[in-house]
Amino acid sequence: MIPISTALKIIKKRVGKLSFEKIEIAQSCGRFLAEEIRADMDLPPFNRSQMDGFAVKVNNTKNAPVKLKIVGESSAGKGFGGKVKTGEAVRIMTGARVPDGADSVQKVELTTESDGFITISEPTKLQQHIINRAEEIKKGAKIFDKGEIIIEQKIAVLASFGYAKVKVTKKPQVAILATGSEIVEITEKPKQDQIRNSNSIMLKVMAEKYADVQVLPIVKDELQNLKSKIQDALETCNVLIISGGVSVGDYDFTKPALRELDAEIFFEKVSLKPGKPTVFAKLNDKLIFGLPGNPVSVAVTFYLFVRTALLEMQNAQNCELKQDYAIASAKIKGAKERDCFLPVQVETDKDGKLIVESLRFSSSSNFIAFSNANALAFVPQGENYAPGDVIEIAYLP
Ligand code: AMP
Ligand code: MG
Repeated sequence: MIPISTALKIIKKRVGKLSFEKIEIAQSCGRFLAEEIRADMDLPPFNRSQMDGFAVKVNNTKNAPVKLKIVGESSAGKGFGGKVKTGEAVRIMTGARVPDGADSVQKVELTTESDGFITISEPTKLQQHIINRAEEIKKGAKIFDKGEIIIEQKIAVLASFGYAKVKVTKKPQVAILATGSEIVEITEKPKQDQIRNSNSIMLKVMAEKYADVQVLPIVKDELQNLKSKIQDALETCNVLIISGGVSVGDYDFTKPALRELDAEIFFEKVSLKPGKPTVFAKLNDKLIFGLPGNPVSVAVTFYLFVRTALLEMQNAQNCELKQDYAIASAKIKGAKERDCFLPVQVETDKDGKLIVESLRFSSSSNFIAFSNANALAFVPQGENYAPGDVIEIAYLP
């Protein structure tokens, strides 16, 4: 049995990095940058007015109200060509270039116009309502790093600096294979001894944030059949996720099948509850994860191991769940021989403290309690927590 941290180290060492592709930025959300993003121009590219009003010299407004001569106009896309001199003002619009000679803008609401003159009713301050050239960013400056995820808020930046397409790491191709002679499709009414396949669809939804995913037909607990289905699956994916059949029962064939296929098994027992019999292997340069079939074990081991691998393959900056600390509101029981990652609900109380609500998580098959979880509470081997104890948590993504 290996510690969780060792399992993660092995995963990081063994996943290969995927190559790159250039894609349209409209299609790039959720992908990871394979190039640095730099400003190809100053922004703003000129001293820009933030207001509709008049560009003036500060010195001319000191004794406001003052009357200044309107000598021209600067509108967005068409700046004023001349220079503002003493006693003069230039009409200016939001987004337009502040003309030479002007060092402040007075907003139109504080002016009155008549006969080609403007009366400024209040003095201006130096640089008022002006964003100077390159104040937001200088040409050549780095904005985003390799490995950063592209999110909606970044799209305007990419567009502003001319990145119509962007270089990203290719997406992993994931295949999902549920095993179990008792497992039937969601659309079927389970007969005696049968249950519906909830793992495949759950894994599909979870993995789709990081990968292209195909769900394969359910495989019964038969060694030869499983072997050939694993071989077929590996033709079309670079990561295969198998659920079920990883323990030591008479009909658990995932590991025997991998062994007979000559897969290289890196680990098959992790000090983790739920999720001890998780398998990580490689065959023909394809990654294989065997996850224990209970839906909660599947979810926890997906988040801890498979998700990390899918992110590592894409050279992502943050490959593990985001950690934090929170306060236990009730007793939380750990396990004698293993570290636990227990599904919990973390909330902020009225004093702004993060509180862990235990979900009465009794067993790894309690996926109804799990459905309300937003984090996993880490309980080290041999620990039990009492109300008020500080606990390490990992947020579900
Ligand atoms: P196993 O890992 O095959 O021993 O399965 C552990 C438990 O998870 C058993 O109760 C299975 O019936 C259940 N299980 C396995 N595969 C699935 C699945 N695809 N959907 C829902 N439950 C499953
Ligand atoms: Mg089974």
